[in-house]
Formats: sequence, C-alpha cells, structure tokens
Amino acid sequence: MPSTPSSSPLETQLKESERRFAQAFQYAAIGMALVLPEGRWLQVNDSLCAMLGYTEREMMSLTFQDITHPDDLAADLALVGKLMSGECASYHMEKRYIHRDGHVVHAQLSASLVRDDEGEPLYFISQMQDISERKAFEDALFRERELAEVTLKSIGDAVITTDPRLIVTSLNPIAEAMTGWPSHEAVGRHMDEIFQLRDPLTRQPIANPLLVAIDKNSIVGLTTDAILIHRNGFDSPIEDSAAPIHDHAGNVVGGVVVFHDVSETRALALKMAHQAHHDTLTGLPNRALLTSRLEFAVSVAARRHQRAALLFVDIDHFKQINDSLGHAAGDALLQNVARRIRAAARADATVSRLGGDGFVVLLPHVETPADASEVAENVLAACSQAVNLEAAALSISFSIGVSIYPDDAEDAGSLLRNADTAMYEAKMQGRNGYRFFNASMNERSTARVRIEVDLRKALARNELTLQFQPKVDTELGTIVGAEALLRWQVDGEDVYTPEHFIPVAEDCGLIVPIGEWVLRSACLHAERWARMYRPLSVSVNVSALQFQHTRFFESLQSILDETGLHPTLLELELTERTVMEGGDHIVELLRKVKSLGVSLSLDDFGTGYCSLSYLKHFPVDTLKIDRAFIRDVAWDNDSAAIVGAIVTMGKGMNKHVLAEGVESVEQASFLSSVGCSQMQGFLFGKAMSPREFEERIAVVDTGDPTVDP
Ligand code: C2E
Ligand code: CA
Ligand code: CA
Repeated sequence: MPSTPSSSPLETQLKESERRFAQAFQYAAIGMALVLPEGRWLQVNDSLCAMLGYTEREMMSLTFQDITHPDDLAADLALVGKLMSGECASYHMEKRYIHRDGHVVHAQLSASLVRDDEGEPLYFISQMQDISERKAFEDALFRERELAEVTLKSIGDAVITTDPRLIVTSLNPIAEAMTGWPSHEAVGRHMDEIFQLRDPLTRQPIANPLLVAIDKNSIVGLTTDAILIHRNGFDSPIEDSAAPIHDHAGNVVGGVVVFHDVSETRALALKMAHQAHHDTLTGLPNRALLTSRLEFAVSVAARRHQRAALLFVDIDHFKQINDSLGHAAGDALLQNVARRIRAAARADATVSRLGGDGFVVLLPHVETPADASEVAENVLAACSQAVNLEAAALSISFSIGVSIYPDDAEDAGSLLRNADTAMYEAKMQGRNGYRFFNASMNERSTARVRIEVDLRKALARNELTLQFQPKVDTELGTIVGAEALLRWQVDGEDVYTPEHFIPVAEDCGLIVPIGEWVLRSACLHAERWARMYRPLSVSVNVSALQFQHTRFFESLQSILDETGLHPTLLELELTERTVMEGGDHIVELLRKVKSLGVSLSLDDFGTGYCSLSYLKHFPVDTLKIDRAFIRDVAWDNDSAAIVGAIVTMGKGMNKHVLAEGVESVEQASFLSSVGCSQMQGFLFGKAMSPREFEERIAVVDTGDPTVDP
C-alpha cells in the first residue's frame, strides 16, 4: 500500500496497526507463518526459520508439505481440507516437521483460514510451537515406565499396585498365579478382595500391610508370618512388604505390595522359571521369553502409536560348519555369535536364540525402519571379523530378515513369521545381507486363513489321523502306554504339523469337534489293545478351550460309555496354564473327571508360571517334565539339578513323574539315577501308526524297551 503524505486519520491508524502486527509477527517467540492454500509459504518469521533450520529465502521455495514428516502429512491435509470446506474455523494438532539437517522437530500447530470478501480462501495463518523438549521428556518418562513394566513382568516376586483408596491397578503374572486372580478381573476391585491374609496360628484375618503403609505414609518392611489365601481357597506362607507410591510433589498417589512364597519350593520355582526362559548354551532368552517380551512390546507400541522391529538373524551355511567341524565347534561358534549380536544390538533390545542357528533381535521402540536397518548393519559388521575356532579362522556371514510393527503385522506370531520369511528372501538374494519384509514376498500372511479353510475340508475328507508314541517304564522294561498325537497327512506326508494347525483350530473353535474325535478314536484304540494284547493307558492332549467347553464333561462320559474303555486306561494331558488360570470351576471339573477314574497329567510341566506350592492341591496324578529340561540334563548341571528336584518334589506330593523328549541313553540313565523311570521320547520310539504300535506291543517284552522288534 503506497503511503502518501495526505493520509486520512483512518489510514494512519490502519498503517500503525499493520506495522504493529508486522513487528509482532516477525519477532514473536513462537513460529508464525502465512501459507497459501496450496501449501507455499507466503511469509515466515524468524522463530520459524530458526526452528526448522532454513533461511527465509529457502523457506519461500518450499511448501509445508515438503517439510512435514511423511507420517503426519495425511492427518494435516485432512484438517486443511476441513478448514477449506468451512467445516471448522481453525485447527490444532501435534505434528512433526523435518529440520533442514534431517532431525525431527515436534511442534504444536494452530492454523486458521483468512478468506476474501467473496469468501474465497486467501491464506492460512499458522503458529507453530516447538515442543521437542517436552516430547523428549515424555519419551524418557515412557521409557522409564516401560523399563519398570518389563521389570515387573519378569521379577521373581509377586507385585500388586493400587490407588490411594486401595483399588487394585495392576498385578504381575506371579501375583496372578499366587492369588488366582487374572489382572483383567482384579483391576478395579478392592485390595482386600484380592489379597487376603491370615495369621498362621489363629487363622484370623490380618490387616492389609498396604493400608498401614498408605495411612502412615511409610514403608512397612518385610512381614514374615502371614498366610495368603488363594482364590480357590488353599493357602501358602508368604513374606510381604508394602510401600506408598509418591508423585514428584510427595503426595501419596497409590501403594505397592511385594510378596513371595516362602515354602521350600520357592527356590526351585525360581530356578525353573529361569531355566524355562533361557537357552542353556548361550544364556540368551529363548523362544518362550522372546514371545512374552514381543507380546508386551506390541501392546506398548500399540498404546503409544509407536513402531517396534524384529530382526531374524540366521548364520549362513551353519549346517556345513557344524557337520564339518563337529558339534563342539558348532556350539562354540554359536556362543561367540551370541556375544557379537548382543554387543551389536542396543541396550533396550532383547536378543534371543530360537534354537538351531536362529537368533532374533527385538527392538521394542524404533522411530523409523531406518533404525532397524542400522541395527541390522551393526550385526552384519560385527560378524565381518573371522571367528577363531580350533586354531582355524572361520569367516561367517548372516542373513537377516526384518519386520516392523505395525507396518508388516500387528501380532507377535505374524511378526516373527514375516521376519523369518524376509530372512529366507535375504538368503535367496545371495546371503550376507538383510531384507525388509514386504507382503508380496509370499502369501504366507494368509496362511492362517488358508489353514482354517483346508482344515474344514480335511475334517470332511478324514485326513486327520492319530499316531501313538510309546511311554515306557525303564524299571519294568516295558511299554506302559501311549500318547495319542494328531497328524494331518496326505499320502503319508504332513500337510501341516500339529504346531501349525492346532493353534488355528483353537482360534476358530474347530478344536472342540476335532478334540472330541481324537478322544473317541484314542479310546477305541486303547479298548482294542486291552482286548487283543494287554491293558495299556492312552494319553490324550486336551486344549484349554476344549476342556473349558461347557459340554466337555458330558461328552467325555458318553465317549467312555460308547467305546467301553475302562476309564482308568484313559489319561488327559492338560497344560499348567489350563489348570492354573482356569478359575474356580476348573478344580471342580478336575475332581469330577477324576471321580470317573480317568487320570490327569500336567503336560509341559515347568514352562508356565509354576506355583509349585499349589500343585499339591490340584488333583493331578502325573507331572510330565517338559522336554526343554530334559534336553540338557546329560551335560548341564543346572538342568540336572532342576530335574532331580522336580522328581523329588513330585514324589513328595505323591505324584507320578514322567520325562518327555528322551533322546539319548545318557539322558535315560541320568533320569533313572534320580528315580524317574517313566519316560517317553525318540529313544523309545517316535509317534507311529496304530498298526506299527500294535506290532510293538505284540512282541513278547524283551525287558529292554529301546530294542525294536
Ligand atoms: P506335546 O503334547 O508336548 O507332544 C510331544 C511332542 O514332542 C510331539 O510332537 C512329539 O512327536 C514330540 N516328541 C516326542 N518325543 C520327542 C523327542 O525325543 N525329541 C523331540 N525333539 N521331540 C519329541 P507333535 O506330535 O508334533 O505335537 C506337538 C504338539 O501338538 C503336542 O505337544 C501337543 O501340544 C499338540 N498336539 C498333538 N496332538 C494333539 C491333539 O490331539 N490335541 C491337542 N489339543 N493337541 C495336540
Ligand atoms: Ca502332550
Ligand atoms: Ca509335552
């Protein structure tokens, strides 16, 4: 606007106000800009330039789209659309810009639209406040919390937290097992309902230590003389301590009580938990622990709208190395590699070994896929140096597959599968490199759906069969029974292994009819063995879902009636999870099943959260020690000590103990030496067809169950 000496008072006022605005605009402490509707900057102030690292001139050649973080662009444009259409008069959002030097700037943006007299859009007025510092602080806080949460999950003690009114806000898995309350049911209830203490002598209720802690605003140290009442009524001696939780101003905002079982079984339980979650060779977390950490990382990332990454690392040509140098060298190599990967990964990463030469690195929080590339490159670099083994310098390389949450998959299982798929792709591309998963790699992501469809057809076509694996008693030298194992085969070839299709059958509910079929078929076979040869018990795996199905008991009764099998020749194999986490009615159901004469066995014993002291209250007859514990007994002292202790404890509780996965004579003789004579495993026979099994039991017992007929 040209200024003339004959300005009217109104014009002067207008000019004055424009100048004031221009000054305020240019030197405002926060970023300000006028932006044209299509996105070009019309005017920017100093603060904005400083915040984003560009000069005013550079800014003028850019649009806001150019410097918006790609992940925030869609949301921003959607709001711009609303402004343009008149749906709103202004908007506010948190968004990220990319600084000239590449780093991310978090900003709080407020924008409004100025229109001309005809109502046509002229330009936006935008204000951006740099909130990077606040974000960094929040992130640090999140990370700290995350760490605390992980610690709570993996700690050997039970932990319950409450708000100041003693309403429960969280339980860790051990607290769930010891109280019998799953967190989703416990949270929101009063502490007194969940955590009931009694005096060991008088059996009178004693005051909740947390009440005192919060009331007096002080820590209540270890109390030793208390008995905790489990939801199912039985009790265990515990030690507990309680403390108030404060905010930064010192106000009491809640309370925490920490407790553990002080019965003699606790030390064993702790050892078992560690053993069940770590790989003995490398000391790294194993698949079980990785899975629980991954599930946790996914839930945290989902809540915070963050990314997580999974790297599947596989040593190239490991089998050749192992075959040519021998197992000892192969083991040494794995240990060496484990250390290198651990060192190459970030501190917050979980590095685990899945068995064989497969390692998995979990990065619970990555900003962009590039963060995962960086770790992959570090791992590749870490192995570029030769490994010195048996005086030979061995050069090794890795193939790595990467999958990203939530881009590639939203659940733990699919993330692992996708990383695995990408790893194979890396191998196909010539090894020694890494590949990101992409959906076109194969259609495996739809595998679940396909398995379900095929499974329905397989049922109709009778493609499901049962095989039987002998259970032996080495003291008696005979086969004493068999475990029925489900197979899905066409022309003698596995279509899918049980590990693949049973979880799908559980998910889609097909496990109920399939399980009924398995039960009926197994009973028919065992009835035939008793008639044609001799009485042998048959063990049938029962999924949690199947067992908890309302009609399970009825159907069990009618199958026994129908097939005429003597109930004492039937054993149901249930997992610890099914039994411990099932709630009140499960104990009742177990009793009912037992009253029929049917035996019960705890499968995969030792891999769950074991509440050993409750075990004696559950009406199970047999503990079936998981094969993970048996694998290393012949050479690993810890495994040997644990298995020995399980056998002693089991017998002390009047339970039978059976070892599964027995593959070598060394393992078998160790087991005999600690008093475990019931065994099952490849040493005595793999799962075989009913005909083969009958051939085995038809021969006169040789006194040596390992001898094949
Ligand atoms: P599980 O109940 O722990 O069954 C034992 C598994 O270990 C079987 O695998 C068996 O073949 C394998 N195994 C036996 N001896 C050895 C050995 O010496 N060394 C090694 N490394 N492995 C050995 P399979 O048949 O693939 O079954 C896998 C899982 O599928 C079973 O684990 C069970 O949880 C489930 N499953 C199998 N059949 C059924 C069924 O009819 N119903 C239900 N609900 N689940 C089933
Ligand atoms: Ca089993
Ligand atoms: Ca098992």
